[in-house]
Amino acid sequence: MGFTCFLNRVRTRENMAWAAGFFDGEGSFWSNVRNDASDGVRAITASVTNTDRELLDKFQSIVGLGKVRGPYQEQRGNRQPVYRWSVGGHRAVQAVGAMMWEWLGTYKRQRWAEALTTWRAGVRPNAIELKRAQTHCKWGHPLSGDNLRFNGRQRMCRTCDRRRSAESKARKRAREAGSGS
Ligand SMILES: [Zn+2]
Repeated sequence: MGFTCFLNRVRTRENMAWAAGFFDGEGSFWSNVRNDASDGVRAITASVTNTDRELLDKFQSIVGLGKVRGPYQEQRGNRQPVYRWSVGGHRAVQAVGAMMWEWLGTYKRQRWAEALTTWRAGVRPNAIELKRAQTHCKWGHPLSGDNLRFNGRQRMCRTCDRRRSAESKARKRAREAGSGS
C-alpha cells in the first residue's frame, strides 16, 4: 500500500473533523521569539495535552505529524499524569493548521495566524496590542455590540461574565448546602 493510499484512508473528512474538534478544545498554537534574537532564535509549536494517551495517538495518526510524549506529572490542577502531542517548526505548524482550518473555531484560527505572524516577523508582538486586535473572546463570543463591555481599557465578554457569575453562585450555594446539613 502506497503512502498516498494510506493517507486517503486515514485522512477522511470524518477523521479530520474529529481531530480538528479535539484540537479546538484541547490544543494550542504557540510561538516565541527572543527579544534579543539577533541570532534568529525563534520557535513555533502546535500541541495538545490530555490524560488519555489513546486520543492523542489517534490524533497523531490522523494528522500524520508530530509525536506523543509523556506521561508528565503536572504541578497544578490535574493530579492525573498527562500526555502531550506536539509538533515543532514553521512548515509543520502551518500544515496542521491548514488541514484542520475548516473545522477550527474563530479563537484557534486567530491563535494560529498570530503564531505564524510572530514567527515570520521574528519579533514578539506586544501582548496588549494582540488583545486589542482580538475580535472574539477565548470561547468564540464576539467582542463587539451588546456583548462587549469595558473594564477600564480592557475589553470584556458579557456572555462569559454571566457564565462566571452563575458558576460562582452555584459554588456558593453548594458550599452553603454542604455546611448546613
Ligand atoms: Zn465569551
